[in-house]
Amino acid sequence: TDIRALLLSRIRDVPDHPEPGVMFKDITPLLADPAAFAALTEALAELTVRHGATKIVGLEARGFILGAPAAVRAGVGFVPVRKVGKLPGATLRQAYNLEYGSAEIEVHAEDLSAQDRVMVVDDVLATGGTAEASLRLIRRAGAEVAGVSVLMELGFLGGRARLAPALAGAPLEALLQV
Ligand code: IMP
Repeated sequence: TDIRALLLSRIRDVPDHPEPGVMFKDITPLLADPAAFAALTEALAELTVRHGATKIVGLEARGFILGAPAAVRAGVGFVPVRKVGKLPGATLRQAYNLEYGSAEIEVHAEDLSAQDRVMVVDDVLATGGTAEASLRLIRRAGAEVAGVSVLMELGFLGGRARLAPALAGAPLEALLQV
């Protein structure tokens, strides 16, 4: 709870970003504070170990910043899920729906195997569309889902409910809820 207060105090609300009516949660002040960034890394690593994960999948781009140090701390591998067209090797692709239109993410197929249990890490769970697509990718790669861990869940967007079928009983861990 103390760590929650610290983390919350380092997240900045930016009104009307990236478009009017959206209150953007900006984690850059948290990243710039070494005590807060270390506490967040520790918390994400602890969840990764507790749920028996062998890999962290980080979602582009802030999931890379949070997931990579947590993976090192937890002693597991790190696998990036990227927007389409960035990864050079053989990939699996997954399309998903946005509020307007759709998007595609991909992962290097050879970075995940049937031996892996995967913890997905991102900064913010909003509608849950990105996390849901990443869970599909992980299962298509033959790996098991250990859970999804985020710094902050925006509860009013219903991401938890959208994610539930894809989680199939695996945990959604949110360090902060708004
Ligand atoms: P979703 O697919 O709607 O859950 O959106 C989640 C993705 O958008 C994540 O990768 C987040 O990093 C990003 N995102 C959505 N809202 C915010 C926000 O308020 N702050 C930071 N990232 C956000």
